[in-house]
Amino acid sequence: MPRDGQVLLRTRYLSLDPYMRGRMSDVPSYAPPVEVGGVMVGGTIGEVVESRADGLAPGDLVLAYSGWQRYGVARPAAVRKLDPDAGLPVTTALGVLGMPGFTAYAGLTQIGRPRPGETVVVAAASGPVGATVGQLARILGARAVGIAGGPEKSAYLRSIGFDAAVDHRSASFEADLAAATPDGIDVYFENVGGHVWDAVFPRLNPFARIPLCGLVAHYNETAPAAGPDRVQALMTAILKKSLTVRGFIQNEFAASLEPEFLQRATPWVRDGELQYRECFAEGLENAPEAFVGMLEGHNFGKLLVRVS
Ligand code: NDP
Repeated sequence: MPRDGQVLLRTRYLSLDPYMRGRMSDVPSYAPPVEVGGVMVGGTIGEVVESRADGLAPGDLVLAYSGWQRYGVARPAAVRKLDPDAGLPVTTALGVLGMPGFTAYAGLTQIGRPRPGETVVVAAASGPVGATVGQLARILGARAVGIAGGPEKSAYLRSIGFDAAVDHRSASFEADLAAATPDGIDVYFENVGGHVWDAVFPRLNPFARIPLCGLVAHYNETAPAAGPDRVQALMTAILKKSLTVRGFIQNEFAASLEPEFLQRATPWVRDGELQYRECFAEGLENAPEAFVGMLEGHNFGKLLVRVS
């Protein structure tokens, strides 16, 4: 039940995001893990069902952080009221116009900084971060190349304006990437690591910028991958090619950049210049299976759970 100054929220949608895997492990990270028996964290869209706070009334929809549960309580300062009549599905607040879209905007504009005509490559390209990176790259005048798993996802990337799309599950992946990047790679927006990084690495141009956003291929690993130590090769390339590798967590940029992002990206989404795709798991009880599937590429677009 809400206390004075709080609202009770019924969760409508829960966002499933790869960062949650880190909260399920006690390996030191930028955020503490969720305790066993605690509520798993997560972005949500909730409907106010009871209000003991000014400014929010029953029926209002808000962007919240209630986690994996059907009901949650929150203070108004911790949520953002959504306008269901704004001409866009409210779910976009968890995807293209939410944390993943903002991650793409921050990493590309603050670290990648593509110049017109440069080649930008992004992996996990059909997901909410990757698809936004590629389309923003086009908007900024660069050439966008997406890497995704399977021909259907690759075809989708071409349909939303990527200049080229490469299937990392294909036997000809490395050759296909070379053909798609004849002038090398100036910005590699890293979401994945693993064999995708191995294919990208030799194609990086001098002065390439690498916003290091995620390493989803490694999130389930419990020990270092087998094989030779490649740190030396990486350090040598960083030195000889003057590469910039810059890790970031999106909230570093939130205060300074989020208003600008929403102001610029909302009309792009409304006009269709920035397209997005969503996929849904039905019911909170199916969230764990959907989450595990996302880490294996079973999702096609921003993954959400329809909770109620
Ligand atoms: P996605 O919806 O793109 O889901 C993850 C995708 O990763 C899968 O669909 C799959 O796509 C791909 N993938 C999984 N395993 C592999 C593998 N072994 N090799 C290649 N691709 C793989 O997720 P998001 O768009 O939400 O997130 C993308 C990345 O951005 C993640 O790494 C995430 O952790 C990171 N991120 C970082 C933030 C930050 O602040 N730094 C904030 C938000 C996200 P496919 O089928 O194409 O292989």
